Amino acid sequence: MPIFDVRHQARAHRILQRAMSSHRLPHAYIFHGPDGVGKRTLAMAFARLLLCPGPVTPEPPDELIGDDDIAWRDACGHCEDCRLSAAETHPDLQVVYKALNRYHPAPEVRARKAIDLGVDVVRHFVIERANDRPARGSARVFVVLDSEEMSVAAQNALLKTLEEPPGAAFIILLTRSIDRLLPTTRSRCQPVPFVALPTDFVVQRLRQARPDLPDEQVRFLSRYSNGRLGTALRQADAGIFEAKIRLNEALADLRRVGPSDLAKLVQDSAAKLAEGYIEEMVESGMIEKANEASTTEPVRRGLIVLLSLASCLYRDVIQMGCGRPEEIVNVDQQDQVRTVAARIAPEAAAEAVREIYKTETDVAANANAALAFEALAVRLLRLEPRRAEKAPSRQA
Ligand SMILES: [Zn+2]
Repeated sequence: MPIFDVRHQARAHRILQRAMSSHRLPHAYIFHGPDGVGKRTLAMAFARLLLCPGPVTPEPPDELIGDDDIAWRDACGHCEDCRLSAAETHPDLQVVYKALNRYHPAPEVRARKAIDLGVDVVRHFVIERANDRPARGSARVFVVLDSEEMSVAAQNALLKTLEEPPGAAFIILLTRSIDRLLPTTRSRCQPVPFVALPTDFVVQRLRQARPDLPDEQVRFLSRYSNGRLGTALRQADAGIFEAKIRLNEALADLRRVGPSDLAKLVQDSAAKLAEGYIEEMVESGMIEKANEASTTEPVRRGLIVLLSLASCLYRDVIQMGCGRPEEIVNVDQQDQVRTVAARIAPEAAAEAVREIYKTETDVAANANAALAFEALAVRLLRLEPRRAEKAPSRQA
């Protein structure tokens, strides 16, 4: 994939390409910003460029035109190095993540549960290899995913390598939150900021990547993902749209549905969502196959997703109540948003968002899901006036 396929990240492109043009290329970077906006894609494209012996000079996209001091560069895309790095099998390209402990030479490290990105993984896969000569060309590139998960010991061990990287080594740390890295780590790296993508662009790329996705899903997911294309794609594949339709219908009709049926519906939806999460969670080392956590953890993640969808409905109710219908995310369920907005004022909807957030904290801390959702439903119903007080004229 060409480097400029990463769009709407003009600052990131400029920082990298200007450094390259000036021949004062830093050896350590922190790519930081929201999930799903192109950090990993650009890191891999930049790695290909560093490893390609014959870079080319492409036309930059519109948002980068006008920077005449920069000689834009990209990997050629055709040589053996480009082929190997595109397949992520280049011997001088190492992607580092916490579950890599399963490939560590020491059996005790392999047997450990990968709770964080530990010092053993960082030592073996980054520090030691950074000192090796490149196997093919003139560089070795390390891309560290979710680098905020590096333990303090791992970050401390890495400091010297970041400070004075062996000549040919480039280290790119990716993180959704630069503040969660130690100040000593941050001060040794060139920060490269990433921003949320424009909604129109998310729509366009969603349509390209998932041509069969119905239009109403594309519209909802592009808004709900908040400019995070990768997140929208994952949500499409996990089937959250179907789950949110059922959830919003139940919330709009909460008095009739009642707390215990709402709790049942939520648990059922969470179990369905969980099926889609299991593989990814095993892959990333969050859970192991075939133990108790392999069923409960993905379901918990499904519950949290449903709470975030519920919170989205009530935020839409606030927008509707404040006369900003163009801001709502549930564009495909405006009737449900209107129904709730007719029953409760924006202040009460804001209180509902707070209640949902509290429930999220409880669920994340292992609370009984059925009880937590029943209690939430009771509290949401209390925010609504009794039937007799309802003004029927606003429903029309
Ligand atoms: Zn090449």
